[in-house]
Amino acid sequence: MTENGSDLVLDGNAAAGLLQQIFVAEITNAQIQCEACGFTGAVGSLRLYAAPMGAILRCTHCDSILMRVAHTPHGRWLDMTGARHLRF
Ligand SMILES: [Zn+2]
Repeated sequence: MTENGSDLVLDGNAAAGLLQQIFVAEITNAQIQCEACGFTGAVGSLRLYAAPMGAILRCTHCDSILMRVAHTPHGRWLDMTGARHLRF
C-alpha cells in the first residue's frame, strides 16, 4: 500500500470492462433522478425534444433538462448536468 492509502492508480482504460457493462444496458429502463426537483423515473418516461443533431430529454415533473445527446462531426456528446444519477 502506498502512503496515501491507494494501492494502485491506473488510467481510465482500466475501467473499460465496468463501463461497458453500464453503457450497453437498456438505457430507457434506467432510473434517472432530476437534480432540480428530486423526481426519479425511467429514462423512457422523460419528455423528448428531438432536434436534427440529437435530443433533449426533460423531467416530466419540473421540465428541467436532464439529458442532452448530440451527434456532431467531432463525435457523440452526452451532457447529464441536470441529472443527479442514473441507476441501472
Ligand atoms: Zn425535475
